[in-house]
Amino acid sequence: KASVMDGDNVCYEEMDDSFQKSKAKSASEALLEERKKLPIYPYRDELLKALDDHQVLVIVGETGSGKTTQIPQYLHEVGYTKHGMIACTQPRRVAAMSVAARVSQEMGVKLGHEVGYSIRFEDCTSEKTIVKYMTDGMLLREFLGEPDLASYSVIMVDEAHERTLSTDILFGLVKDISRFRPDLKLLISSATLDAEKFSDYFDSAPIFKIPGRRYPVEINFTKAPEADYLDAAIVTSLQIHVTQPPGDILVFLTGQEEIETAEEMLKQRTRGLGSKIAELVICPIDANLPTELQAKIFQPTPGGARKIVLATNIAETSLTIDGIKYVVDPGFCKMKCYNPRTGMESLLVTPISKASAMQRAGRSGRTGPGKCFRLYTAYNFHNDLDDNTVPEIQRTNLANVVLMLKSLGIHDLIHFDFMDPPSVEALLKALELLFALSALNKDGDLTKVGRRMAEFPLDPMLSKTIVASEKYKCSADIISIAAMLSVGNSIFYRPKDKQVHADNARLNFHIGNVGDHIALLKVYNSWKESNYSAQWCYENYIQLRSMKRARDIRDQLEGLLERVEIELISNSNDLDAIKKSIASGFFPHSARLQKNGGYQTIKHPQTAHIHPSSGLAEVLPIWVVYHELVLTTKEYMRQITELKPNWLVEIAPHYYQLKDVEESVSKKLPRGEGRA
Ligand code: ADP
Ligand code: MG
Repeated sequence: KASVMDGDNVCYEEMDDSFQKSKAKSASEALLEERKKLPIYPYRDELLKALDDHQVLVIVGETGSGKTTQIPQYLHEVGYTKHGMIACTQPRRVAAMSVAARVSQEMGVKLGHEVGYSIRFEDCTSEKTIVKYMTDGMLLREFLGEPDLASYSVIMVDEAHERTLSTDILFGLVKDISRFRPDLKLLISSATLDAEKFSDYFDSAPIFKIPGRRYPVEINFTKAPEADYLDAAIVTSLQIHVTQPPGDILVFLTGQEEIETAEEMLKQRTRGLGSKIAELVICPIDANLPTELQAKIFQPTPGGARKIVLATNIAETSLTIDGIKYVVDPGFCKMKCYNPRTGMESLLVTPISKASAMQRAGRSGRTGPGKCFRLYTAYNFHNDLDDNTVPEIQRTNLANVVLMLKSLGIHDLIHFDFMDPPSVEALLKALELLFALSALNKDGDLTKVGRRMAEFPLDPMLSKTIVASEKYKCSADIISIAAMLSVGNSIFYRPKDKQVHADNARLNFHIGNVGDHIALLKVYNSWKESNYSAQWCYENYIQLRSMKRARDIRDQLEGLLERVEIELISNSNDLDAIKKSIASGFFPHSARLQKNGGYQTIKHPQTAHIHPSSGLAEVLPIWVVYHELVLTTKEYMRQITELKPNWLVEIAPHYYQLKDVEESVSKKLPRGEGRA
């Protein structure tokens, strides 16, 4: 949260503020020169004129041309913010934060004042805010409170080519409101050239092209496929470092854990080389890192040194880092995959598309000729990669979006104005799940439960868990668990040289084989008892940063509980009550132990295993519910709680019958599998 409104400190803040302001002003004057050098600058007036003439404009421009940072400022300069805020949506949290920080510098204002950002569980805006960067998902949620978005004069749907689920839904909604709000301007901006499609969708809106500057990029492929792309990426980067002329390196990896491993490997392999090689400045882009700490990525590399940026897809088009001359592209990204037949969703490391590969390569040729090292063969590129990434709406669970649209009063989902419609099967599956969770009734109308669930910016199963906690009188415990789950898998800290200690510390929270959800609750409660102590985190191998985030999220969930009029009650001694709440939301994720030590999901039989990081990995309870499935070397269930099978029938009688929980072993296990 921005420290804008800290009541007690007003005087101090204001004194500090005027000093800060003069400093910020001179910094912004210095940045003005840089702004004038951006490719978009010569088109400023033409762009403003076009928007004057048209309500909807599609804008296309190479990454780094200045679309995201400059256009909202231009609009502000000519007065659009007099009639409302300018919203600029980003598919990624880090992009929204980082760009807002940059623009606040350029405008010489404090972040959170005139320029702010809003991402899930973090609102860094104030009364003063006129330019608001936000995730596409947050703008979607704003429709719930303000269906005509009356507080805005301009909506810029940025990074439209990413085609995230939220962006696709936003398209339909903003197109709709633009019809009865002629004063609202709409900008759809994209880094790729398939703008025709956007233009067609928005009733032939004109396309405004910003010519980019692009230098040639030399593309290198490997001769044979790489067995271990992470290792290959490190080796390649170090080779670049010792053999190539100055210029920074950008490496594309698939996720946080991989970035951390890569950082570790780079440090290890350069250690001891001392002055034999030039200094290598390692800059991981961390999705959980606060804005100030991310700043290092954008700082110019010190003379004589070389910077190596370890990034996920975010650096493909969302963030531009100046000075990159070499790109290392292993050819993978992490993608959500969904099977509408079974309703199973999992995160999968998958090959990127040709379009992505081109974007990645392009990052090296922005300021001069560049080189791209692809860690796959030319044959792979031409024959195995898809041309384009499939839009998320066609490969994801739609339950969340369906619940939201229903709350907005949009009932006919089949005929919603989708740019690319999802499969009918996936829509039906979402309706089916929401019905099973009692969010919708038989006619597909929102129920009271559904209405309450929609208030929470969480996955419907998790929202249902919270709503159900009212019945089991443990809402206070459940929101702690929900907050901890929302932080992701970055609670426990396991340094390489102290793994045994870290694992022992972790086991403490699992005493009694309470399961992962309750272990998370214990972590949270113990930290709270320690008075939110940093020392306690340190001693218990817990990441303080993640805990603080959990506390923030929990505070917000507490506020939402009040909104849906659920009393805050703790019941931490009745573990069964807590487990039943969890089962009330996650019963579609239940699985039963098989004779071979694996598990099989109940409703749509699929094999899965308990993730080795789970406290129940050695215990192997017969019945479990899991939070999520991840596919690495095997299909793993992460965050497990033990369950009594009769609960399923008690909690979800419309979903499970006695025969499901009695016969699932004998009926669904193929003969002989138990002998393996
Ligand atoms: P586009 O949206 O067209 O890809 P941007 O507006 O994001 O372009 O970027 C324009 C310029 O602003 C780039 O040169 C980039 O390096 C710079 N920039 C953007 N964000 C930051 C930041 N957080 N810190 C420093 N420079 C930034
Ligand atoms: Mg941009």
